[in-house]
Amino acid sequence: MVYVSNQDGQPIMPTSNYAKVRVLLKNGKAKVVKRCPFTIQLLYPCDNEVQPISLGVDAGSKHIGISATTKGENTGAIVLYEADVTLRNDIVELLSTRRENRRARRNRKTRYRKARFNNRRKGEGWLAPSIREKIDAHLTVIANVHKILPITKITVETAQFDIQKIKNPDIQGIEYQQGEQLDFWNVREYVLWRDNHTCQCCKGKSKDKVLNVHHIESRKTGGNAPNNLITLCEYCHSQYHQGNIKLPKTIKRGTSFKDASFMDVMRWNFYNRLKEIYPNVHMTYGYITKNTRISRNLPKEHYIDARCISDYPEAIHPWNKTVVYYQKKVRCHNRQIHKMSILKGGNRKLNQAEYIVKGYRLFDKVQYHGKNYFVFGRRTSGFFDIRTLDGEKVNKGSISCKKLRLVEMTKGFLIERKVVA
Ligand SMILES: [Zn+2]
Ligand SMILES: [Zn+2]
Repeated sequence: MVYVSNQDGQPIMPTSNYAKVRVLLKNGKAKVVKRCPFTIQLLYPCDNEVQPISLGVDAGSKHIGISATTKGENTGAIVLYEADVTLRNDIVELLSTRRENRRARRNRKTRYRKARFNNRRKGEGWLAPSIREKIDAHLTVIANVHKILPITKITVETAQFDIQKIKNPDIQGIEYQQGEQLDFWNVREYVLWRDNHTCQCCKGKSKDKVLNVHHIESRKTGGNAPNNLITLCEYCHSQYHQGNIKLPKTIKRGTSFKDASFMDVMRWNFYNRLKEIYPNVHMTYGYITKNTRISRNLPKEHYIDARCISDYPEAIHPWNKTVVYYQKKVRCHNRQIHKMSILKGGNRKLNQAEYIVKGYRLFDKVQYHGKNYFVFGRRTSGFFDIRTLDGEKVNKGSISCKKLRLVEMTKGFLIERKVVA
């Protein structure tokens, strides 16, 4: 896909007609504004014909899956953009280090410092910094997609199951008319969560990772209520039905509902923030996504889940070539002045290298022998450590910067385009 924006810089429908793009660029009728994902801007006026584009977001604490799909009037559903974003997981660690250093420093100083530990108020809507960072990253990722595609609808998953629906099966409303089959998937996800995703018979000792939800009494007599269901691993489940083992006598039937309100603070906050920014935001549940993915026999990937969340799970990539933009969020600043450990002789090592070393910043995208890498380490000797997102190094992490060519400057996200089988 080549992403296109009009003369004013507003995104319009992308194209997979690469020949046309080549001609436009050659004749000076368009210019390249971004290399990854490849985006051009038209330099002549055009009519903004847009189709509805549905954006599915698989929000998560470690990864975000993104999928933008569309369906033309007389064409099949196609995938316009798919991405897998790896989030930062170092916030807790960094803040703990800072707190430790600060405490040590304030203990050391002998001047009197007023006690201020108890005068900080956490405002309404306060979130832990690690969660706040994740939500902000989610929003940035969505905003970045809006820069290249005219998205008309966003759908996010807010929770794995719908607790209201389980508590009150006769609940009315369009979103609740989904049939018995899907209802069972909902209860199933709840039961798995209630049982901590562990087999209630062997408590995980069998090492079988496949989990089944077993009806204690048969479905016919006991029904599909959570108190008739129990999580068993596949091994224990088959052993039980063969009559080799018995269920533990004291199984918790889960008659009272485990509180699910504190679950997924991140995803709910993200959903609410999205609604403030974008006009057409919808939500769905994890069990629906899972059902769609499994019934379509799709592999378990974050971008696939996102595709199942979007309006057109049947969408395929143009030319049948699955292109995924792998992204990694990295820190933009490093404000720590010194390294933690003090060197021999009492020297404190500066924490940061120069802002620019030999013309490069940390995480700049560079090209070496026709392949793209990111600058992961810079040495004043001029020998750099360049890597791909998978961590593949070049020449054991030491390559002369004279052999590199700058592709794109760092912007907080490392983006790599990959063709997946
Ligand atoms: Zn088991
Ligand atoms: Zn069973």
